[in-house]
Amino acid sequence: MPRRHRKDPSQDARPLGGGLFDQRVESASDGDWIVRRIPAAQATKTYRCPGCDHEIRPGVAHVVVWSAEEHGTVEDRRHWHPACWSARSRRGPTPKRR
Ligand SMILES: [Zn+2]
Repeated sequence: MPRRHRKDPSQDARPLGGGLFDQRVESASDGDWIVRRIPAAQATKTYRCPGCDHEIRPGVAHVVVWSAEEHGTVEDRRHWHPACWSARSRRGPTPKRR
């Protein structure tokens, strides 16, 4: 990834979710998460879904999730099946009381 030239400030001022990827922030009980949808055409590697511990094969559309509070560490990104990610928020450790 060539990121050496920092002459053009417009290169860095790219807003989150602008253009190429469908990306949004989700607020959960354990913090804010950036969720990026990876279309099937962009999925070129095999990942392991932390939700079900099964593989996400190349060519399978899925989501990439990382903490919105600690951005910058690519290693913290997790690839999830979309269903597993939404199930996680639903079955998360949220004590429902008022
Ligand atoms: Zn899964």
